[in-house]
Amino acid sequence: MTKNYITETITKEVSKHISSTCNKCGVEKEFEQVDDYIFNNYSHRINVEFEEGSIYENQRWAFDLCEECLVALVRTFSEAPEGIQANKYPRESFEHFKLTGEFDEFSGYSESEKEEVLNKRKEYLAKQQAFIDRFKC
Ligand SMILES: [Zn+2]
Repeated sequence: MTKNYITETITKEVSKHISSTCNKCGVEKEFEQVDDYIFNNYSHRINVEFEEGSIYENQRWAFDLCEECLVALVRTFSEAPEGIQANKYPRESFEHFKLTGEFDEFSGYSESEKEEVLNKRKEYLAKQQAFIDRFKC
């Protein structure tokens, strides 16, 4: 049995997400499409599902926040959100983030701990360089 094919052009209407408006500040961020990837330009969708017992039971809220508003909101938190970058002192890391909006790998470190880490890095780099130098002509 032989399969037979024809080629036809199909025109169909599709909806395309082209921008998001921050629910907090109202700024609209346009999306950029490059090939098959859509850059959402630092707009974040937040989904909340209210469970049984809540006065909002069975409601699902969804809203968009621009990155500036999201970071500003998180900086008001008393506890760090899961997944946020931290070093071995998560409390101090998060407090530094709340003050500056940035991560400092040495938040909470004593001067001697910081020096120890930096010295280990120097030693590691020196070993790497020595290894590389072994193969130089
Ligand atoms: Zn915003």
